[in-house]
Amino acid sequence: MPRFLVALLFSCCLCLSGAAAFLQAKPRERSIRGISSRRRFSSVLAGQRQGTSLAPPQKVAIVGGGPAGLLLAHYILDKTDNSVAVSIFERGPDPRKDDSISGRQYSLGLNVRGRAAISGIEDLWKAVAKEGLESDNFLLHVFGRKFRLRSQKADVPPSLLIGRKALCKALATELVRKYGQRGGRLDLSFDSAPSSVDLGNGVLYLSKGKFAVADLIVGADGMNSIVREAIVEAVEKQEKKTEATGEEEPDTEQRVREAMRFSSKETGKVLSEFRRETSTLSGRWRVLHDNMPTSLDADAVHLLTGTLGQGREKEGKKKTPVSGGLFVIPARDGTCSVLVNWRESNPPVELLSSTPSEFCDIIETGFKAFGRPSEEAAKRVLSQRNQFAQVVYCSSMMAPQAVGTAVLIGDAAHATGGSQGQGANSAALDCMAFGELLDKFRAEGLHGSGKGLDFQRLASEFSARQTKEGHALLQLLQVESLPFPWSILFFFREAFRSVISKVPVLGKAVFGRDAALWGSSKQLKMSQSLVPYSEIAESYRFWIRRALERRGSQAPSGLKQTL
Ligand SMILES: Cc1cc2nc3c(=O)[nH]c(=O)nc-3n(C[C@H](O)[C@H](O)[C@H](O)COP(=O)(O)OP(=O)(O)OC[C@H]3O[C@@H](n4cnc5c(N)ncnc54)[C@H](O)[C@@H]3O)c2cc1C
Repeated sequence: MPRFLVALLFSCCLCLSGAAAFLQAKPRERSIRGISSRRRFSSVLAGQRQGTSLAPPQKVAIVGGGPAGLLLAHYILDKTDNSVAVSIFERGPDPRKDDSISGRQYSLGLNVRGRAAISGIEDLWKAVAKEGLESDNFLLHVFGRKFRLRSQKADVPPSLLIGRKALCKALATELVRKYGQRGGRLDLSFDSAPSSVDLGNGVLYLSKGKFAVADLIVGADGMNSIVREAIVEAVEKQEKKTEATGEEEPDTEQRVREAMRFSSKETGKVLSEFRRETSTLSGRWRVLHDNMPTSLDADAVHLLTGTLGQGREKEGKKKTPVSGGLFVIPARDGTCSVLVNWRESNPPVELLSSTPSEFCDIIETGFKAFGRPSEEAAKRVLSQRNQFAQVVYCSSMMAPQAVGTAVLIGDAAHATGGSQGQGANSAALDCMAFGELLDKFRAEGLHGSGKGLDFQRLASEFSARQTKEGHALLQLLQVESLPFPWSILFFFREAFRSVISKVPVLGKAVFGRDAALWGSSKQLKMSQSLVPYSEIAESYRFWIRRALERRGSQAPSGLKQTL
């Protein structure tokens, strides 16, 4: 038999016996074998990547296929060549096939920030815009009257009102159209959630003993991020180890020092530690999907205040009506998404335990401008669970180098709930910043043409750039809970500045060339400009301090240190 055939047969046997042993192993063992082979593999690759285009791709695993995870995948695949592959693991169903309506399927507004970030990928904004309705009109209904809080500006592109699910659907559809769902550079899985994350080895453990290895793990998994919690756990473990032995293992110590040296070059701050704080916001809501009431302008967002029926019976006291709100966001197909919201401390007991017909009566009585919803829509609301949002503060948007290579984006790193209308927009900006860094690395010859990316360095530069933006977003959120009399003073301050900015000569004298922008309210600066959040927060420093003083332990303690 020719010698090459013997060699071929021999190597086939080796492969088969290896594969058989791998498949027979118990799930845990199988995972561990996977890791060790990956390690051996990657050390061989390290050399290969420098010079050839045949090297297997570096892998990015994104946990969470919400707006942030899907947009980041677009950026990574768009800005790198075949040397990088992306896997997305999304716990929820495929938004392209799912037609259920749940409490997390609210609509949101993508302003100029979200628009700029999504437009960074060719044709993506066009695909997203098709799913939404463009409008900047915002009306407040209170005491039976209507006030226009915001209207369309001629020189600013309008916000896009779009369902969160519709946004994910458009992003996923475009991803699959460009890169295929599986087998190429993209692997997009739905109904798939890692059960745990091993940051040190870059492994995500999936169900049925499966696992995925990655050179970079991205936590895009929202306010309850498991990637973030894995970072916290790993850091705590490191700290315990240090306490127990009195000294760190030499290689860990060395790695921490390297991380500190690198980060101090970037920001002057030590990034080798990681802290996170979370708190639950007091608002609760359910989502009502129905036809847009004919009584409301179909091209505006409406905030209606009113009552949601009777509340809880308190000891010795009569039941009292519950104050609440309807936040109505129109959709392009003539329907609307309504957040029926109230405070956790005073739940609308009567409304939530009503029949669909009683539900409609309560809404019709409490919100005359809205009118009567359909019983079908009421039935869907009554079958939902109450939803709530969290505020998330992280001291950094990357894992310390000593524990692994991972970054956090979007709500996983800086959730603010829906009150400022910035969550999805800021998540999109995180993705754009990541894309810009990939461009920068390429321009500096740090990747492309078979050259491997230094993900640790990328993570570090990303965190140095975006962490302060996330912190600024949280600082600006604090202003909404200013104590009396600061809240009143703040209201008049904003109104006064707005008036001054509109007086031609005076406006320019006080605010400079950009009088319209700097004289506008905090909310408009955030939603109708691209000025970094950190710059906006700087101009509200005094008010943020007052708010933080009052909120004391309720506000993330790390925020005070960032001021
Ligand atoms: C009521 C409300 C109104 C809002 N309005 C606006 C608005 O007008 N404008 C705006 O910009 N923002 C708004 N926001 C905020 C915005 O929705 C979020 O900031 C945005 O969705 C964040 O995107 P994300 O991808 O980071 O997180 P998410 O949207 O939370 O997505 C995270 C994804 O990760 C998945 N996931 C979670 N855990 C796992 C796991 N272990 N494994 C796999 N997958 C997992 C989840 O299923 C989810 O799909 C609003 C929020 C709320 C609650």
